[in-house]
Amino acid sequence: MSYVDEVFDLVVAKNPAQPEFHQAVKEVLESLRVVIEANEEQYRKDALLERLVTPERQLLFRVPWVDDKGQVQVNNGFRVQFNSAIGPYKGGLRLHPSVNLGIIKFLGFEQIFKNSLTGLPIGGGKGGSDFDPKGKSDREVMAFCQSFINELHKYIGADTDVPAGDIGTGAREIGYMYGQYKRLTGLYEGVLTGKGLTYGGSLARTEATGYGLLYLTEEMLKCNGKDIAGMTVAVSGSGNVAIYAVQKAQQLGAKVVTVSDSTGWIYDPEGIDVALLKEVKEVKRARLTEYAAARKSAEYHEKKNGEHGVWNVKCDVALPCATQNELDLEDAKALVANGCIAVAEGANMPTTMEATEYLQKNGVLFCPGKAANAGGVATSALEMSQNSERLSWTFEEVDSKLKTIMVNIFHNLDDAAKKYGMAGNYVAGANIAGFLKVAEAMTAQGIV
Ligand code: GLU
Repeated sequence: MSYVDEVFDLVVAKNPAQPEFHQAVKEVLESLRVVIEANEEQYRKDALLERLVTPERQLLFRVPWVDDKGQVQVNNGFRVQFNSAIGPYKGGLRLHPSVNLGIIKFLGFEQIFKNSLTGLPIGGGKGGSDFDPKGKSDREVMAFCQSFINELHKYIGADTDVPAGDIGTGAREIGYMYGQYKRLTGLYEGVLTGKGLTYGGSLARTEATGYGLLYLTEEMLKCNGKDIAGMTVAVSGSGNVAIYAVQKAQQLGAKVVTVSDSTGWIYDPEGIDVALLKEVKEVKRARLTEYAAARKSAEYHEKKNGEHGVWNVKCDVALPCATQNELDLEDAKALVANGCIAVAEGANMPTTMEATEYLQKNGVLFCPGKAANAGGVATSALEMSQNSERLSWTFEEVDSKLKTIMVNIFHNLDDAAKKYGMAGNYVAGANIAGFLKVAEAMTAQGIV
């Protein structure tokens, strides 16, 4: 049996009931097959792949907090410190009822390659909790965040592990966590990114994932002889990534006609009104029904079981910005039938493996999340740089660095795909380019 297949079987056997983690590992290992086979003896002797798929450290902890009725609630807390070969662990904290160890491991594993692709010195990690901030009062969210950090502060630090936001963790949660970290340690340091602008945050960090997604998509289209200006774009999600993806797509001259949340989706043929979307989602923290109620041109569709409406809308470019496995084979077929030419992932692993293969086979340009959404974590690394030098850069400075990083990521993965005989396969290109740097650093550092 080949080394790649052996290691994949090992992952399934050793990590039962973690389907998302298996999926993320399978996608990466399949892409690496040619690279591994060319150097199999050495990699096997060093157990490089076994080390790559095994987190350096996994923290699981209890998070007790008191709700507004005086009742004690208990959530599970997680931090997976996956790989520190090229820098301190870096990756977000997801707060969502679906969070379990397998989800955090899939996200942490993806983060290793994503962070490597940015070209910046950051290792891979991820964390979070099954706590749901939705519907909780500010006091309840603060109580949870403080309890979470009471435990996590022992294991993080500006030079060791730097968490950030993800689904459910935004500016409010990062603020409460930062305050508690500072109180417990007495350190005013860049231990978290996505901080507020008054206490060490970076300009353009809020916009970075969505903007970066569009900078990369624009470059991918350009290199394939297409221009995003004038194109129709379908976006899913309505959180931080989706909002700023819509905004940048519009600035580049595209028309965005959809957004979605967990209960429904919007079709707005006149183009999404970003100011209204921000008001509904960032200020009121309300449902998209409120968007539809305030806007004549918008149609609201209730999400029915197993159906993901936005991908049935005719579009040139699809940007899944909601969550993992939201775009399946049926959706991919609908996109191809409607003439979609490009898909770039704003979320982490939003496209199933079958859907990805179908899109690629049908000539759709497909860029995976670990490249396309790397602008968020890249700008987090820029926030770390600013914190270390105790300076703040201007919006334009950060934004132009972000653009350069995204354009470079695209060319790196495009070149890697060509070099290994898979021109146009950006999934393979991203995994190979991300892996090679980490593998070289791991090899240089010996058996650790
Ligand atoms: N949660 C984001 C991601 O998936 C950002 C992580 C960060 O900024 O550290 O990459």
